[in-house]
Amino acid sequence: MVTKKTILIIEDEPHIVLGLQDALEFEGFRVVSASKGRDGVAAAKHEKPDAVLLDLMLPDMNGYKVCEELRRWDAFVPIVMLTARSQEVDKIRGLDAGADDYVTKPFSVGELIARIRAIFRRAGRPPGAAPEIVTVGAARINLSAHSLEAEGETRELSFYEVELLRLLHERVGQPVSRDEILSKVWGLEASSTNRTVDNFIVKLRRKLEDKPEQPKHILTVYGFGYKLVP
Ligand code: CA
Repeated sequence: MVTKKTILIIEDEPHIVLGLQDALEFEGFRVVSASKGRDGVAAAKHEKPDAVLLDLMLPDMNGYKVCEELRRWDAFVPIVMLTARSQEVDKIRGLDAGADDYVTKPFSVGELIARIRAIFRRAGRPPGAAPEIVTVGAARINLSAHSLEAEGETRELSFYEVELLRLLHERVGQPVSRDEILSKVWGLEASSTNRTVDNFIVKLRRKLEDKPEQPKHILTVYGFGYKLVP
């Protein structure tokens, strides 16, 4: 018997919860929901979801805080924030709080499901016999353990950071287009307005470049995408 993947929705707008729940259950997921941040954190501990959809504006606490609390006890569960805001500053703040991704309301349920499928397609890769170690500059990255060691410090990498690095590393030295990254890592269609990939490149550079503003390893290929130079 195949165990259903559980998705936790933390959202206080009932029509959004209902719409998502119907669509996700139709896709074969098990859905658990909470309408307050506190209850969401408790549900996450109890249900151990495979992914979390988290609203930014909740009645009792804001989504950033919920995200930080979730991350305190689970470093890896993919968290997608649902937000009505689209400002870049909010996105960076959410990503810093530990969110993996954003969708801006009103969003398409089909697009959200495509993202969730991509998460599980990549997360469901059979584990290799040996840990996947990648060296980039002075950083030693263990893709299986989601960790990066540099300058005597160990840092955790989020789900999408690992997947983005993995894809760039598979094609090391070659440019990989933004559209291909968006499609393979996030399961999304090409879009010139989607800044997801760029936001994650910023995060990765902060973690593995000596001078993130003058990167030597994750290079921008102007008008195209990115290239990893180890
Ligand atoms: Ca809300």
